Amino acid sequence: MTTLQDCQALDAQDPLRELRDLFELPLGMIYLDGNSLGVMPRTTPARVADTVTREWGQDLIQSWNKAGWFAMPQKVGDKIARLIGAGAGEVVATDSTSINLYKVLSAALHQAAADHPGRQRIVSERSNFPTDLYIAEALCRERGYELQLVEPEGIAAALTADVAVLMLTHVNYRTGAMHNMNAVTAAAHAEGILTVWDLAHSAGAVPVDLKGAGADYAVGCGYKYLNGGPGAPAFVWVNPLHADRFWQPLAGWWGHAAPFEFTPDYQPAPGITRYQCGTQPIISLAALECGVDTLLAADALGGMAALRAKSLALTDLFIALVEERCAGHGLGLATPRAHAHRGSQVCLTRDEGAYAIVQALIGRSVVGDFRAGDGGRHPDILRFGFTPLYIGFVDVWNAVEQLRQVLASGEWQRPEFTRKHAVT
Ligand SMILES: *Cc1c(COP(=O)(O)O)cnc(C)c1O
Repeated sequence: MTTLQDCQALDAQDPLRELRDLFELPLGMIYLDGNSLGVMPRTTPARVADTVTREWGQDLIQSWNKAGWFAMPQKVGDKIARLIGAGAGEVVATDSTSINLYKVLSAALHQAAADHPGRQRIVSERSNFPTDLYIAEALCRERGYELQLVEPEGIAAALTADVAVLMLTHVNYRTGAMHNMNAVTAAAHAEGILTVWDLAHSAGAVPVDLKGAGADYAVGCGYKYLNGGPGAPAFVWVNPLHADRFWQPLAGWWGHAAPFEFTPDYQPAPGITRYQCGTQPIISLAALECGVDTLLAADALGGMAALRAKSLALTDLFIALVEERCAGHGLGLATPRAHAHRGSQVCLTRDEGAYAIVQALIGRSVVGDFRAGDGGRHPDILRFGFTPLYIGFVDVWNAVEQLRQVLASGEWQRPEFTRKHAVT
């Protein structure tokens, strides 16, 4: 049995504990939703205020040069690159994950058509995040491809020589299950299939080595584990092996080789810069940089490897405490127990009341979220994200204690907890 004292001792020994001071955490709240919207770094308000009042307010248009606005997507991209096994000059922070996915999937289809003409299929996972599937579906309709959706255990069998692109999310948003990027990429390449990876729940959450895996294209999210703020720009990466040829379907002037020549014809910029479309959201990029800097601050303390070790310790502890202290209340575990297959979240299942239990927990300042089982194909999920930058072991203890009380008292059955909000 793990005790509160054990958790206190784990916090006392935690080499990453000081990183919590980088964040503005609401008093008394245990925030287990950093996988959906990361916490605000302490530096963000002053940085955004400076961008607005001085850079915009005083220096106005000069700030494109003087404050380095023009190069912000590359500057922030280079910082993100360090978290995902990419090199400098290979990533830009721009647009949304959905839009970046449109670009890379489009590019991958182009490349596949040139290298392996006649392949008409994109393979993805049925439980992939819906926007990924919607973007793929729209592209398939536009270009005459077929989208084949499989269960995770069916991926290997679906990788046949008529497939153009395999598009997967590295860590599943519903279950927290993680693919082996190296093995899956190698299996796809063995059949001449290009890979597109969505790192929305990986970047800043688990170590990622895109180049080590030999992946082809990747996108990811700025407002989840990167703490970039609501609607933060996303990021996009293309393997430098494809840098001379990859297609940008949204050819805009910011992706032009010489935007200030104002030529009537489009010449793509070399490398990833072509994945900028139009004028970039500078205030949001400033906030995103503050968020990414909180992860890079961990470098001196062991970086992503240390963050991963703590994340696994936190999720192990949460699973163990739920099983010890909430037994008999109908909870199941949707997240894999094997470390190699687990991201940085734990998802619990319950046949009834998952939404209301999450609401009752929020009422007690333990913030997780609810994800519906799609049309009964999967159980409803209570989802808890563990961000090792600011979550401690006593937080885990307290969260499970609140969950225990919500279940034991039946408090979750109160009518106010069943009312559905627009955002769950
Ligand atoms: C969060 C998430 C997105 C979000 O896409 P937006 O364009 O930022 O709304 C996309 N894909 C996955 C897998 C996600 O988890």
